[in-house]
Amino acid sequence: MARIVMKFGGTSVADLNRIHNVARHVKREVDAGHEVAVVVSAMSGKTNELVGWVENMPKVAGSNAPFYDAREYDAVVASGEQVTSGLLAIALQSMGINARSWQGWQLPIRTDNAHGAARILDIDGTDITRRMGEGQVAVVAGFQGLGPDNRLATLGRGGSDTSAVAIAAAVKADRCDIYTDVDGVYTTDPRIEPKARRLKKIAFEEMLEMASLGAKVLQVRSVELAMVHKVRTFVRSSFEDPDAPGMGDLMNPPGTLICDEDEIVEQEVVTGIAYAKDEAQISLRRLADRPGVSAAIFGPLAEAHINVDMIVQNISEDGSKTDMTFTVPSGDVDKALRVLGDNKEKIGYDVIQSESGLVKVSVIGIGMRSHAGVAASAFRALADKGINIKAITTSEIKISILIDGPYAELAVRTLHSTYGLDKS
Ligand code: ADP
Ligand code: ASP
Ligand code: MG
Repeated sequence: MARIVMKFGGTSVADLNRIHNVARHVKREVDAGHEVAVVVSAMSGKTNELVGWVENMPKVAGSNAPFYDAREYDAVVASGEQVTSGLLAIALQSMGINARSWQGWQLPIRTDNAHGAARILDIDGTDITRRMGEGQVAVVAGFQGLGPDNRLATLGRGGSDTSAVAIAAAVKADRCDIYTDVDGVYTTDPRIEPKARRLKKIAFEEMLEMASLGAKVLQVRSVELAMVHKVRTFVRSSFEDPDAPGMGDLMNPPGTLICDEDEIVEQEVVTGIAYAKDEAQISLRRLADRPGVSAAIFGPLAEAHINVDMIVQNISEDGSKTDMTFTVPSGDVDKALRVLGDNKEKIGYDVIQSESGLVKVSVIGIGMRSHAGVAASAFRALADKGINIKAITTSEIKISILIDGPYAELAVRTLHSTYGLDKS
């Protein structure tokens, strides 16, 4: 007997037939004698629709009211998961399985106060653990918890992954299975590169980079939690026949295991390619080259909660003036320009320029730590395709390259083949 947390994403619970199919996956594990907690997302497209309703509420002409109250945003967008948790409990009950739904506030899953992007602080797993021991399946609404203000709080887009891993850690599960519409983590997004290969295993650090750099198969925070709490996490498909051979394998279920790097015997130099769309670049020209300039730029941006990513500062020619270029998400450009405009005097720049619609393509692999020349091959390959590089950042295990949006797919496929990732 094992304790298993199973998470099903939006496409897996997109309609009643799929929810029925999910119930069959759960039944398989229950019938095998395991204790099971399930975490569900909203039906696919539902959260987008709910967010759209919040954002498109008509405003009174001339009103200076804030865009919207983040606590009410949470009250609205958390509702998608309430529906699917109830529906899955009903589907399970109709198969004769003892099951009940749980909302985040009922456990409770305690979060911080950052409405819309809250972090889980603590989960009380006593009730569900006891009931699981009595044979009841807990069906938990993902993506939501209870803030310190006693209000619903959501965990940021893709947050049900994090709910699942956090619950797995709280109930000390033997495994956390993230069921989605692909059968594992691939060398790159299989929607962009059909030749992408499924990875049998991927190291926590690599998965963390893949997720942070745009591979939305797992929310970044879920990987952090899995790494810290050593949760044995698998990414696998909900679309396979629930009763196909091997689906119920306890130690080696089909899919990709996210694990410690020591568990990976054959480590490649490059493990995967990720991409993030909708990046924007802002340049401040002819800045005073003196101590405190960076603080004057990035301090106010941080206060405005704008996430700055790549930063490039030129060495000044004459020791007095320099240029600074950095990237922010496209959605934050207007806000960033406003903040920088308000602080023009303090920063002391001449002109400000911006460009949206850029893409960041990243090459990721732990093996890069001990191999030289990985970056050079990327630059050569992109040059051969006529793709211009706008900015570069590197760390021990990744290289990120900023390019023009229309080249995204070509760049991903080019880098994927440059490192031989399409060959088994
Ligand atoms: P869910 O609704 O189940 O949470 P998501 O849409 O959030 O599913 O994540 C699954 C999607 O992630 C896949 O359909 C795939 O297009 C995308 N994806 C991006 N990069 C990768 C990758 N390296 N491996 C697998 N899937 C990836
Ligand atoms: N339904 C939420 C979203 O679409 C959470 C999730 O699916 O993980 O972002
Ligand atoms: Mg997701």
